[in-house]
Amino acid sequence: MGYRSFYNCTALQSVTLPQGVTSVYNGAFANCPNLTSVTLPDSLVSIADYAFGFQSGTGGFVPLPNFTIYGSAGSAAEAYANKYGFAFSTAIPTPTPPPSQPAASEPEASAPAASEESVVPTPATSADADQNKQSKNSQDSDMLLILLAIGGGTILLIIVGVVIFLIVRNKNDRTKPAIQPDALPNKTDSNGSKTTEQYPEIYCPMCGTKNTGRYCSLCGHLLR
Ligand SMILES: [Zn+2]
Repeated sequence: MGYRSFYNCTALQSVTLPQGVTSVYNGAFANCPNLTSVTLPDSLVSIADYAFGFQSGTGGFVPLPNFTIYGSAGSAAEAYANKYGFAFSTAIPTPTPPPSQPAASEPEASAPAASEESVVPTPATSADADQNKQSKNSQDSDMLLILLAIGGGTILLIIVGVVIFLIVRNKNDRTKPAIQPDALPNKTDSNGSKTTEQYPEIYCPMCGTKNTGRYCSLCGHLLR
């Protein structure tokens, strides 16, 4: 705390120096007429003359009335209090600085805090809702993909089935006429010879089987 850091600071009502401050220079908090208390850390080892509790008066600094110093027993703060006859207390007010300032700042601080708390959860929940929505959407799209995959698989299966069915039927259609043209036997019957001997031997151009009938005996291809 430098020389007259808070000199003439009329707004100051109480001061709490944080742990770690080691020295307070001359008149740092002097002439703060509304200052009623300071809370000083154990780390403070050097307190210059008139650092706290004085205001300008006739012929120099005069002590503030009703000024209290809070600190640990045996600390530099206590020594300073004893030196100038200030009230000293080890009952350090826990909620940082003494009443007046926190009382003034507490509602202010708690009100924003409360509104912050009420505001923060709202975006949080809405964000959660968004996330839920998103995850639900992604779940929905996942489901859609699965359904599409199933649908696509089903359609593929149907197509494959239809193709197989068509192939089989086509084969049947080919083989059937091979049997049906047993109109030939009629001829053969009339001629008194077998169907197979009706025609000269011929090789099926589709499968290469040697045939004597009108149709390939293996693949049903029309030969003549
Ligand atoms: Zn054939």
